[in-house]
Formats: sequence, structure tokens, C-alpha cells
Amino acid sequence: MTPFDYARASDVADALRQGTIAGSAYLGGGTNLVDLMRETVARPEQLVDVSTLPVAIEESEDGGLLIGGAVRNTVLAEHRAVRTRYPLLSRAILAGASAQIRNMATVAGNLLQRTRCTYFYDTDGSRCNKRQPGSGCDARDGFNRIHAVLGASDACVATHPSDMCVALAALDATVHVDGAAGARTIPFADFHRLPGDRPQRDTSLDPGELVTAVALPPMPVGARSTYRKVRDRTSYAFALVSVAAVMELDGDRIRHVRIAFGGVAHKPWRAVKAEAALIGGPATHQAFLDAAAAEFADARPLRDNAFKPALASRTLAAVLEELAKGDAT
Ligand SMILES: Cc1cc2nc3c(=O)[nH]c(=O)nc-3n(C[C@H](O)[C@H](O)[C@H](O)COP(=O)(O)OP(=O)(O)OC[C@H]3O[C@@H](n4cnc5c(N)ncnc54)[C@H](O)[C@@H]3O)c2cc1C
Ligand code: SF4
Repeated sequence: MTPFDYARASDVADALRQGTIAGSAYLGGGTNLVDLMRETVARPEQLVDVSTLPVAIEESEDGGLLIGGAVRNTVLAEHRAVRTRYPLLSRAILAGASAQIRNMATVAGNLLQRTRCTYFYDTDGSRCNKRQPGSGCDARDGFNRIHAVLGASDACVATHPSDMCVALAALDATVHVDGAAGARTIPFADFHRLPGDRPQRDTSLDPGELVTAVALPPMPVGARSTYRKVRDRTSYAFALVSVAAVMELDGDRIRHVRIAFGGVAHKPWRAVKAEAALIGGPATHQAFLDAAAAEFADARPLRDNAFKPALASRTLAAVLEELAKGDAT
């Protein structure tokens, strides 16, 4: 590990003062960043510890929730308002990592965690455009079982690893950030990027910007929601595919639906084509499969992950059937 300085930020202004210095990185729970530093993928000169600010979960005026960036994943998953009003978010968080890691991990750190592509972590000879721009991408023709089937580029086929972020995408969350140019909000769909020709940039954050909070809008009245993760082992494994969905029925027709997939793209994938195919139509198994087919029509599987579109489609149909039957809340 390369030597570095450590400083604890006393408040947001102090964090920004220190975090905007070149070579600084914010430290949340450290469960991803410290691993990246051990592997010398990340080499910050200074860590600015922001794990104590801000940590509140507050009711917002519109009936939603405002979640501080430093709230621990376990605290969020177990919060009463989250469990009762946003159960998909609670389920998504609890499907990730281990209890010990969730106890340490922060909301902001979860958003900013980096891909689990093996070649990204292998500094000992693997070519990776995300780690070293312009060097190439060994995953394209290498071991790519966990990689993207939607929205990838020649430069990078990595997936975003977070479970929590898939639920936030389906919830239409907003990310609150602060930085040298002032505070701003970013719709969740615009927070993470597709790789294009700059895969080194995971998000639309400017250098030194701090994630201060995540806002959840109120859930539609009568909506049911859930999260399902499919993985190689039932614990301690990242998603091969996952589905977060919110659905509201009007009789046996779909009044409102929001769907996001995990494990299929460089960002949590909001399934706008599937949603458009479903809204106003019948809540049937065939309609769910047809909607998934519309979403994955442009899928470009790689050597080892051709199973993903079919697996994601079946998972979506199962999740929506569960919601239609009222088996989830
Ligand atoms: C063994 C293992 C298994 C895991 N399994 C899963 C899984 O199944 N599903 C899943 O979703 N995740 C999984 N994870 C990942 C885990 O969820 C993340 O490591 C965690 O959420 C990161 O949060 P953190 O607070 O520790 O972030 P840190 O490691 O502290 O930071 C991560 C990144 O966020 C930046 N950052 C931190 N706070 C801020 C801020 N306020 N503003 C701007 N940038 C900030 C840091 O600079 C860094 O770049 C696993 C991790 C491990 C080690
Ligand atoms: S898929 Fe992306 S992260 Fe993985 S090796 Fe290629 S460029 Fe690097």
C-alpha cells in the first residue's frame, strides 16, 4: 500500500476544503476503497474521512425520505420507514455483502463502489481501460461471465456491482451533492455513467464533489415493491442479475410500474422499454415476458454471459407475478 495522510472532516465545509485538494479521496466505511488501495488500484495521497457526516434519516415535506450520505447500510435497511414504505430498498441492501460489511458501509460509499471486474483489480499485467485509460480491456475476450450485456462499449464491458443502487434506480431517487461549484441534485438515472470511451469515470460527479444525501420520493399509494437477486451462491456473492420493481395495479391492469436491473450494465439499468410495454396493459405472465424481450432486444452478450438476457427476463417475470399476486408488499 502506498503511504497516505488521514484527516477526519468535522463538517461538510471542512470535507470540501480538504476533499477538493488534488490527490484526496473521501473515505466512508472503507470496505471498497481500502481494498483498492491494498491492491494499488487506488493511490490517494490523503483520505478525508466523511463517515460521520451527515448520518440522519429524515422525513421530507413531500412524504419521502432524505437519507444522509454517511448513514450505514445496516441502519438504512433496518429503519422502520424503509422497511414499511420502501421494502425493496431494505431487501436490496440485505442481499449484499455480509452483516459486518453492511455495518461499516455508508450510503455514499455504496453508490461510489467500483466494479468487481477481475482485470480491474489485477494490477499485475492485466489490461484495463478503467484502471489505466488507453491500455485495453482484457475482459472483452477474457473471462466475462459477470460482465455487461446492455450499454457496454468497446472500451469497457464492466457491470456496476451494487444491490442498493438497483433499488434506488427503481425508486427514482435523487442524489444530493456539494462541491467547489456549490450544491446540486442529480437524478439517479444520471448519476452513474455508461462507459463510452471514458470508462475511467463511473459517475457524473465532478472532482472533489461530496455526496451528502439521497432523497426518496414518496411511494405511489397502493404500490407493491420488491427486489430479487440471482447469484452463484446464496450469500456473499455479487448479482449475476437482479431486479428491483415497483408496481401498482388497477384491477388486473398495470397502472404504474418501475423496473431496474442489476448485473447487466455499467450502471443500474432502468428498464424504460419494459415499463412502456407494460403500463396500461394486463398483468399476465406473457405480458411480463414480452416486456423483458423489448428491454433485452438490444442485448450484446459476450463469450461467457449469453445466459443473462434469459435469466434476467425470467427473474423479471417472477418478480412481477409475485407483485401482481400481492405476495410482496
Ligand atoms: C467481500 C465483499 C462482498 C461484497 N458484496 C457486495 C454485494 O453482494 N452487493 C453489494 O452491493 N455490495 C457488495 N460489496 C460492496 C460494499 O457494498 C461496498 O464496499 C460498500 O457499499 C462501500 O461503502 P463504503 O462506505 O465502505 O465505501 P468506501 O470504501 O469508503 O468508499 C467507496 C468509494 O466511495 C467514495 N466515497 C465515500 N463516501 C463518499 C462521499 N460522501 N462522497 C463522495 N465519494 C465518497 C470513496 O472515495 C470511494 O471511492 C461487497 C464488499 C466486499 C468487500
Ligand atoms: S471490462 Fe472495464 S473494468 Fe474490466 S478490464 Fe475491461 S475496461 Fe477494465
